[in-house]
This record gives sequence, structure tokens and C-alpha cells, in this order.
Amino acid sequence: MNGIPNFFSVLGVVFVILLVVFVILLLIATILIYSIVKKQKIIFPRATLFLLDTLYFPIKRLVVYLNMDKSVVDKIQIEVRNVILKNEYFSSDIKNRIVVFPYCLRSIECKARVSPELGVKCVKCGKCKIGDFKKICDENSIKVFIAPGGSFVKRVLKKYPKSSVLLVACYAELNEMMRILSSKRIPEYGILLDKVGCIETDVDMENVKEMLFEAH
Ligand code: SF4
Repeated sequence: MNGIPNFFSVLGVVFVILLVVFVILLLIATILIYSIVKKQKIIFPRATLFLLDTLYFPIKRLVVYLNMDKSVVDKIQIEVRNVILKNEYFSSDIKNRIVVFPYCLRSIECKARVSPELGVKCVKCGKCKIGDFKKICDENSIKVFIAPGGSFVKRVLKKYPKSSVLLVACYAELNEMMRILSSKRIPEYGILLDKVGCIETDVDMENVKEMLFEAH
């Protein structure tokens, strides 16, 4: 007869322990975010990334509650992932690298066709920065993709599984794509757009070129 009350008291204790652990982890993650934002220094990169990946949604809520810029969590995850994974990416063969741009970087007058497997088939019309960049990549046999959505990169990697990937996107999409690729252990490097929005966004193409051709 005492079995059921005992069961509920054990459940209650377990719940309280989990709650305390959750609050402590949330506090540690907040301190790590604060130290990265204020001191521009990443301490314990792998632990930071683990905590931010695990507590992504609660931390985002907390950041909004604290009146901070909600993009800060994604930006920190991108920065930390780049720190952790950059050696693998920069030591990969340049010929095996592929570049993935977001759809919104094109000109609104872009007439290129879209294919489900290859994304936007850029014809290098010169109406946006991608055309000239693609010319250089074509000369070096490097593949360039313009992604119609965040999950597009998974399709590309099914076709080219040995690639390492240079990703360009806004903070939310870039973080999502980098998370997918790192779970599959694909060498990657992420570059944030300088101007975000749904149309005619912008990126520092010189920086993209530098990261594409840099090798260690
Ligand atoms: S350069 Fe390529 S992506 Fe840019 S507008 Fe022309 S066809 Fe579209």
C-alpha cells in the first residue's frame, strides 16, 4: 500500500534534481555567453558548444527575456564551431571544397532556373556578386551552389559526400546548416552575411574568396 506514495516521492526528488541541474547548466551557459560577448574570448569552446547545442531553445528564451539581441546565441555557436572545426576545413584539399550561398544573395532580376538537386543554376549574368565568384570557381573546378532552403545542403552532400563545405548564410540558417554538417563530421567553415533580409542580401566576397583558397 505504501508503494504508490513512495513512487511519487522518488519521482518528485528526481524532478527537483533535474531542475537544479538544468538551472545550473543554464547559469553556466549564460556566464560563458557573457564572457564571449564582453571579453571577446572563447574559453572551453567544446563545453560551450555542447551547452549551447543542448540548451538552445531555453537559452534563446532567456536571452530575449534579458533584452539581449536574440541572434547572439546563433552567432556564438557559429564562431565557436568555426574555432573547433577550422583546422579540418583548412587542411582539406581545395579541389574538394564546395561553396553554398543563400538564395537571397541573388539579384531580384535573377533569371536562373532552379533544380531540386542542384539549386539555382547560375548563368553568371553579372547581376549579382555570385556570377563573378562562380567564374573563378569554375576555372578552379570548385562547385558553387545557391541553396533554395536550409536542408538543401544535405541533398548536395548525398551527391558529393567527400566534400568540405564553405557556407554563407544569415545567422539562423548558417547555425542550422553548420549543426547538421558537424553532426555528420563534414569539414566546414561558416561566413555570416553582412546584410540580411529576404532579398538582395550581401556578403564580403573577398573574405569568401580568402576562406575558399586558404590552406594550412
Ligand atoms: S549572377 Fe547568377 S545568381 Fe546572380 S543574378 Fe545572375 S544568374 Fe542569378
